[in-house]
Amino acid sequence: MVTELESFPPLVFAGECDQLRARLGSVARGEAFLLQGGDCAESFEGVGADDIRAKVKTLLQMGAVLTYAASVPVVKVGRIAGQYSKPRSKPTETRDGVTLPTYRGDSVNGFDFTEEARVPDPERLKRMYHASASTLNLVRAFTTGGYADLRQVHAWNQDFVKSSPSGQRYEKLAREIDNAMSFMRACGAEPEEFRTVEFYASHEALLLDYETALTRTDSRTGHLYDVSGHMVWIGERTRQMDGAHIEFASKVRNPIGVKLGPTTTPEEALEYIERLDAEREPGRLTFIVRMGADKIRDRLPTLVEKVTASGAMPVWVTDPMHGNTFEAASGHKTRRFDDVLDEVKGFFEVHKELGTHPGGIHVELTGDDVTECVGGGDEIFVDDLHQRYETACDPRLNRSQSLDLAFLVAEMYRG
Ligand code: PEP
Ligand code: MN
Repeated sequence: MVTELESFPPLVFAGECDQLRARLGSVARGEAFLLQGGDCAESFEGVGADDIRAKVKTLLQMGAVLTYAASVPVVKVGRIAGQYSKPRSKPTETRDGVTLPTYRGDSVNGFDFTEEARVPDPERLKRMYHASASTLNLVRAFTTGGYADLRQVHAWNQDFVKSSPSGQRYEKLAREIDNAMSFMRACGAEPEEFRTVEFYASHEALLLDYETALTRTDSRTGHLYDVSGHMVWIGERTRQMDGAHIEFASKVRNPIGVKLGPTTTPEEALEYIERLDAEREPGRLTFIVRMGADKIRDRLPTLVEKVTASGAMPVWVTDPMHGNTFEAASGHKTRRFDDVLDEVKGFFEVHKELGTHPGGIHVELTGDDVTECVGGGDEIFVDDLHQRYETACDPRLNRSQSLDLAFLVAEMYRG
């Protein structure tokens, strides 16, 4: 299996990874903002035009809101085209007295609660590659082939505008963007940047057999790149300093993310910098902080202080999802929109206090009107969760909640 994967062509080009590293360098220096988002877990079934378009559209809309309302360049990175593997807290799952192995992502086993589905199947690694390839192909088509043209800023919202307060708020902003563009056109300026969007793909580097098989030497530079995606990150559960994941990440030139949970010590953060970014290159290392709304104001300051004092300049990003998950009485795993927002607020407060740059957000979202997280402008209640609960893993913000969040983050960024 691995030998076969090794013979497959790269999904991304090393030069694109370098370009993203440079963009993230601007984020590290405080000149741009990172918007990273997508499913908790992509599924092979979700590799359809409608699903992919809805996710890209939501990220483009959020990007437009942030760029315009916060007046900051936005680096757009999807949790997409490779996010098929999940670390799990428990090895088994019990329903109605039946215990089966947990679902570990479509790259490992099946989501259905049956014995057959839950058997790991190495052939799935190949399907992961092909699913990533077709997703990335469509994402590239959307983002460079005219769909992401800023003149489409209204079209992205068409199916949405009347049905939701955030859709209406967005429409107002889109009209302002239109006016600004008409003004520029009248002045004779029609920059290429309006026509296409730079969009990058990222996922958690969890299955090292897969990631290693897709790691290649770049003929231009002789360096190793993980060509399964532009950026990969190491999750909270696999960030052991002497573990294989950190070792793998230290060997490749891609921009690397490390999730930092509430138990992270400043010494650990400094060691990640030594291991992964010894040259202190802005853009190489992104710390994705996921503490929980109740802990961020307490835990983040010392990390940022000590890291800054060391002279390192990582990108600091908030993941306001993973520290705020709870189980509703109905048994649904969910998150409160208010907790998500509060963690983002705490993140901004800490950086403001320390004079450092709140570099971005990392969120789990979908373009569909699912009911997986409670709250937001459209007020989803705990009792609504069953209506459209579709995630294969963690609860995602729906399109309206995602847009709400973008507007609120833009306000915070402007400060
Ligand atoms: C995730 O991003 O889906 C995830 C599992 O996050 P973490 O590693 O931070 O728990
Ligand atoms: Mn998740």
